[in-house]
Amino acid sequence: MNSERINVRGVSFDNLTLDEAAKYLEERFDSGEKTAVFTPNSEIVQLCIEDDTFCRVINSAELIIPDGIGVVKAAKILGTPLKGKVAGIDLGKKTLDMAARKGIPVFLFGGKDETRTESGVSIADQCKEVFEKEYGDIKIVGTKDGYCKKEGPENEETLAAVNASGAEILFVCLGAPLQEKWIYENREKLPNVKIFLGLGGSLDVYSGNLKRSPKLFIKLNLEWFYRLLCEPKRIGRMMKLPKFYFGTWKYKIKKK
Ligand code: UDP
Repeated sequence: MNSERINVRGVSFDNLTLDEAAKYLEERFDSGEKTAVFTPNSEIVQLCIEDDTFCRVINSAELIIPDGIGVVKAAKILGTPLKGKVAGIDLGKKTLDMAARKGIPVFLFGGKDETRTESGVSIADQCKEVFEKEYGDIKIVGTKDGYCKKEGPENEETLAAVNASGAEILFVCLGAPLQEKWIYENREKLPNVKIFLGLGGSLDVYSGNLKRSPKLFIKLNLEWFYRLLCEPKRIGRMMKLPKFYFGTWKYKIKKK
């Protein structure tokens, strides 16, 4: 099974709506195919432009969705429009719906440990509680905070925990580019896992610790601006956005 791919500045995006992406993922799961899901925004595409090795990591994923209006705009500028933005956090939620419906075991990896949260409960454990309340009999078979070493013996322990849990869906929420690199380097060591989701700060939102942008901001394509208001320290990272936008025009003009 294939989905049409559109190249945006070197990254091959699947041209799917949210529902189509969820369906595609389910079809791949049903046929036993391993799928890594990456959700690059313009900041990450800019990183790919600047770093070939990371670009190869991103393009290795079987499902790549545009989690940012900047990527959608760039595709349009380049004359190869995408259907629209697909928020990773929404695809994550659809994947949880599927897990609950089909009884697929899920493992949550990432987010703050218990020493870093106000409640003294790790973000992943808070999510487990929220999901169990929401879905009833969803199988969250394991959790692990993201503040551990991502290599060496400590990482081996994380891998052993995922393998022992029998999880077939793994949320890896460490932020980009850490989570994509982790999935790329470790996916073959996790034979049971069929779906790997690199979903940044999603666990913070699912757990209720971070608010998603109000609907109006989403509608006006200003979700990025709302995040900047809530987390002003993101300004450094966001400086990549104008570089990406103007770079895309320059790239288009050069190609003509
Ligand atoms: N995080 C983590 N381990 C780390 C660094 C970060 O688990 O070593 C978590 C952090 O707690 C947050 C998420 O990764 O929940 C990063 O969120 P951010 O919104 O920065 O990611 P983005 O969605 O922008 O990639």
